[in-house]
Amino acid sequence: MSGADGYSVLFEPVQIGPVSARNRFYQVPHCNGMGHLRPQAEAAMRAMKAEGGWAVVSNQETEIHPTSDLSPYAENRLWDERDIPALRLMTDAVHAKGSLAAIELAHNGHHAQNHLSRAPLLGPSELALQTAYPKQARAMDKSDIREFRKWHRAAARRSREAGFDIVYVYAGHHMTLPHHFLLPQFNDRTDEYGGSLENRVRLTRELLEETREEVGDECAIALRFAVDEMLGSDGMQAQEEGRAVVELLADLPDLWDVNVADWSNDSATTRFEPRDGFQTSYIEFVKQVTSKPVVGVGRFTSPDLMVSLVRKGILDFIGAARPSIADPFLPNKIKEGRIEGIRECIGCNICVSSDALGVPIRCTQNPTMGEEWRRKWHPEIIESRGKEEAALVVGSGPAGLECAMQLARRGYDVTLAEAKQELGGRVLQESGLAGLSAWRRVTDHRIYDLQQRGNVQLFTDSSLSASEVVELGIPNVFLATGASWRRDGRGKSAFRGVSIESGSQVFTPDDIMSGVMPGDGPIMVYDDDQAYLGGVLADHLAQAGREVVFVTPASMVSPFTELTLEQVKVQRGLLEKGVRLVLSQTLVEITPGLAKVQCAYTGREQSVECASVVLVTQRARETALYEELRNLPDKPLTSLELIGDAANPGLIADAVYSGHMAARNFERDAGDIDREFFRREIVSLESA
Ligand code: ADP
Ligand code: SF4
Repeated sequence: MSGADGYSVLFEPVQIGPVSARNRFYQVPHCNGMGHLRPQAEAAMRAMKAEGGWAVVSNQETEIHPTSDLSPYAENRLWDERDIPALRLMTDAVHAKGSLAAIELAHNGHHAQNHLSRAPLLGPSELALQTAYPKQARAMDKSDIREFRKWHRAAARRSREAGFDIVYVYAGHHMTLPHHFLLPQFNDRTDEYGGSLENRVRLTRELLEETREEVGDECAIALRFAVDEMLGSDGMQAQEEGRAVVELLADLPDLWDVNVADWSNDSATTRFEPRDGFQTSYIEFVKQVTSKPVVGVGRFTSPDLMVSLVRKGILDFIGAARPSIADPFLPNKIKEGRIEGIRECIGCNICVSSDALGVPIRCTQNPTMGEEWRRKWHPEIIESRGKEEAALVVGSGPAGLECAMQLARRGYDVTLAEAKQELGGRVLQESGLAGLSAWRRVTDHRIYDLQQRGNVQLFTDSSLSASEVVELGIPNVFLATGASWRRDGRGKSAFRGVSIESGSQVFTPDDIMSGVMPGDGPIMVYDDDQAYLGGVLADHLAQAGREVVFVTPASMVSPFTELTLEQVKVQRGLLEKGVRLVLSQTLVEITPGLAKVQCAYTGREQSVECASVVLVTQRARETALYEELRNLPDKPLTSLELIGDAANPGLIADAVYSGHMAARNFERDAGDIDREFFRREIVSLESA
């Protein structure tokens, strides 16, 4: 299918109860680390989605009462009427751009920890917190349930006062009381709220009915429901109880927002769920059971897939959290036939990590995400160039490509030089590893964009020396020369590196990523980086049929991946592939055929047999060219800036951000940059 006309079905208006959505693009609720702590930032971020064409823009989990306190995470809050003005910022901003605003009311039961409120924890049954904190929820008695229903009703009323058009009842992700009541894994009650499915669904039904009584004349009522727990016969399955729930409640809500539980399955990364539309087989029955509109998700970025889901009668709305984060203007780009311009989500879950860290959302693909209010960055608009005319970017990793693309958009004549034969830097390397192929979208998007522009020259196979840079005669230079993995073992656990006897077979991630395969015998992957790459490399080598021993000072595999909802899947995957895990051990010495490791707690040593070792420890910045240029006596350059991993090794998201920042700040007054680091939402000193 080609041309915007083929996609016109996506731009039909759809009625949701008493409100009408202008098209079929629906940003489902998603966390963002802003919430009640940074309401202006959240309002501006949501408004950007509306401006980009999302007909419905939802907020995130909204705590309805102090017994559902998600602190320290920055979710939304509607404990009482004093929280309305902060939410009103969002609804006004979304309405100003012509979209509907939805609120996801949530009581998180024992998923909340109530660390701030110190209120009692509530659940359908006696339930221990799933975190390591020693607290338990008490089984709600009938008066607790009545109270909860009152809180929900009051929150619905306040939602309308705050200007929301759609009010959610949320029974999903294993995260909320209605869901906990629905599932036998949390509910062993013997009264009318437990036992049979009719009983377990009672609370959700009551909430839907009461929300309708309260606001149904003006607001649509949405039910967010996980049709499948992805636990096979150990949990709710789409074709059995999942379907039965939809049958029982079929036309009670005005809209069904359906997905799978838990959150790690709903927001699966491409590493573990590479298919766009991966939830379709679970949710496709819903529209056969209800006459109400249905929204579903599945990392949709292909307009052809979207059209086919609508035409086949599977979805009324194309739901998205992550694709709307990576590209808030996805709907408008489809409408305008600019399909190639879509910045496709790579499914890395760096956005999710910010929620877990309690900081404003960020995105690998979209460096402006989270910066709409505090830096006034717009994903599609950038200031035109100043008096300078040309810029040279050295290095074509994520930092260099992003910097070059934004400089070109600003109107500079851009020259980009890359030493290797192919553009892409670390993204090219990492996306060649098992499970990471979708990451290639980071470079594909930018290279395509650069290739379309008349003011850009791209050179590969062009390793530049300082004198060559000067000879080019381009006075403004951005060095995105990257970083390479160390070969000496220096890292978190070994500031001075590890002892390596000559003759030992030692490799770095760069070796493996450039196609080197260690010789016969067991390979030790030593992961002192503790992020994602060590686990990916171990998996990659195991998939290549190699015997792998994974050693790390951490007490689990790849602890960083807890932030991206992947850790359990990473560790399970290595165990299933027969990788031997040696946890809480620090590498001290490598000799041919043997490595000596030390318990991270007691220092007790043991030997691990291995023919070779891959050291995943720390990276060394590539700064030689920078130092040479910086120290040239006659100062031939007007500006010189080191960006990306060469400046500060980090995530790909950090490199993209750094390249973007450098391009935005080029020719800005240094004093302004310093003064306006970013706008902050400072806590009011008024007592409320
Ligand atoms: P980042 O993540 O900061 O973008 P990468 O490590 O991904 O950095 O990419 C750096 C790129 O810079 C690599 O592809 C490397 O080949 C290239 N590079 C490094 N030094 C030079 C140089 N002197 N001339 C041209 N390219 C260079
Ligand atoms: Fe997609 Fe990664 Fe951006 Fe999240 S951070 S929206 S997963 S590209």
